[in-house]
Amino acid sequence: MFFMENLFIGIDLGGTTVKLAFITQEGEIVSKWEIPTDKSGEKIIPDIAEAIEVKMNELSLSKNQFAGVGMGAPGPVNSEEGYLYKATNLGLKEMYPLKAELEATIGLPAVVENDANIAAIGEMWKGAGDGAKNLLCVTLGTGVGGGIISNGEIVRGANGAGGEIGHITSIPEGGALCGCGKTGCIETIASATGIARLAKEALQDQNKPSLLRDQFEKIGEVTSRDVFEAADKGDELAKEIINFITFHLGLAISHVANGLNPEKIVVGGGVSKAGEQLLIPLRKQFERFTFPRAAEAAEFTIATLGNDAGVIGAAYLAKTTLP
Ligand SMILES: [Zn+2]
Repeated sequence: MFFMENLFIGIDLGGTTVKLAFITQEGEIVSKWEIPTDKSGEKIIPDIAEAIEVKMNELSLSKNQFAGVGMGAPGPVNSEEGYLYKATNLGLKEMYPLKAELEATIGLPAVVENDANIAAIGEMWKGAGDGAKNLLCVTLGTGVGGGIISNGEIVRGANGAGGEIGHITSIPEGGALCGCGKTGCIETIASATGIARLAKEALQDQNKPSLLRDQFEKIGEVTSRDVFEAADKGDELAKEIINFITFHLGLAISHVANGLNPEKIVVGGGVSKAGEQLLIPLRKQFERFTFPRAAEAAEFTIATLGNDAGVIGAAYLAKTTLP
């Protein structure tokens, strides 16, 4: 491979897969691939190091062409000391020295960050954020991830829990149980999982005819995608569900926007594939609840980097924070 230097390794650690990429100073991906996440936790870091070595050999790259490693991980991260908290979901110990382990195993300087935060940084740098320095990123996937960038800096807060937009309480009493231990978080409503649950509940509680009911009776499952497709065909029940979701999401985002005054609100994750069908009602609700001057400044946009946002943001973090 032609000669390159000062490359970065971007890593996005997820519960199912680890996404990896070699990325240039300018944020271009040289190579990207993924490996399964070791469920026992023990081999997560050794697996990553091995995959990187194999790929370097494959591309005839050597370690001295790399300036550092950036990594995003699920859960609160203390970036300064490089610890991942609540890593037990990954089979790691409660407080895991992620940065130190990466550096020791890969042999390059490393920086670690929460996964939703690196996705927000990725979108700011190379994606829908288009360089906006005040940006809010909301990822509607299995859960609801959030990243807040203020003045070009990620908001980490006092102990790494900043930007957790998904856990804004939307149903103060009697809401569904959230993975965080609270109830009624926006994650229980606007995630793909939340939308599917709301659809199933609506089908069980109401007798209204619906395209969703036919499908539910046939295969016993309804997904968030089915809800948007049915609404697109004029299905009333599906439209009601979308109204409910966008009402709560617009309200939750308005609270953040009133504090941050963002230029861009980037919506990503699987649910964002609904595009304008999601953004138009969301924007309308957002405007109802946001301080008018802040609403005026904010542009809603769909994330453009997809699954690459994390690795690109991780590389940016390595580029801008490592010595
Ligand atoms: Zn929660």
